[in-house]
Amino acid sequence: MKYALVSGKKTEATKGSKGICPNCGSELTARCGPIRINHWTHTKSSNCDIWWENEKEWHRAWKNYYPDEWQEIIIPDVETGEKHIADVRTNHGLVIEFQHSHIDPEERNSRESFYKNMVWIVDGTRLKRDYLRFLKGQNNFRRTNKQGFFIVDFPDECFPSSWIGSKVPVLFDFRGLESIENLNDLRNYLYCLFPNQNNTEAIVAFVSHDSFIKNTINGDWFKKPQEPQKQVSKTTIQNKTNIRRRESSHYYDPQKGRYVKKRRF
Ligand SMILES: [Zn+2]
Repeated sequence: MKYALVSGKKTEATKGSKGICPNCGSELTARCGPIRINHWTHTKSSNCDIWWENEKEWHRAWKNYYPDEWQEIIIPDVETGEKHIADVRTNHGLVIEFQHSHIDPEERNSRESFYKNMVWIVDGTRLKRDYLRFLKGQNNFRRTNKQGFFIVDFPDECFPSSWIGSKVPVLFDFRGLESIENLNDLRNYLYCLFPNQNNTEAIVAFVSHDSFIKNTINGDWFKKPQEPQKQVSKTTIQNKTNIRRRESSHYYDPQKGRYVKKRRF
């Protein structure tokens, strides 16, 4: 964690210091070394917040775009008494979670149900293949009548499958900690996959890092119309399903020079 309570105040880790965990109340020890970023760990093993992931620089860099008082916010569930630490919660009540490691859909779902008003920022640099798959997939994005918004067919062929079916916006960050000078490089954008997707179609928006940060800080994120689905023509989902079904049931036979049906054994 970035913060512990020291004399009741949110305090960053400095060598040799001790503090109190704002979530579970047990003792924290500062870890300040040459390899990992400065952070606090529980002195004794604890099951403080099962959703907590150890922070890497990417995670910390994102959090630091927001004011200190919005970072690592303890959010209790008044009914169950369950508590979790949100990476960032803005003044407008939006929770922003930064996810570097793999998450299984079940945990993703629980976190979305718990925080409700939230977005994910996903580290798209963890697996090289994720960006390559995105690059290939974005060639087939279809324009909508709203600038910067696209339709992606078969979102599972463009984005990691664990994020398909999310109930909240998921933004993929393929830039990571790199700074990329070429302004046309696609990694200079975040790609926001909107909810209400189905297996054959989803809406994706290009969002610059700066505008995402600015709009979540000033609250404009909520003012932007986020329902482009209503504006696009309903394409023939059934047809697309049929196309894919055909593709997976046939294979290309070079001797015959055409697609032939796969046999069942
Ligand atoms: Zn704790």
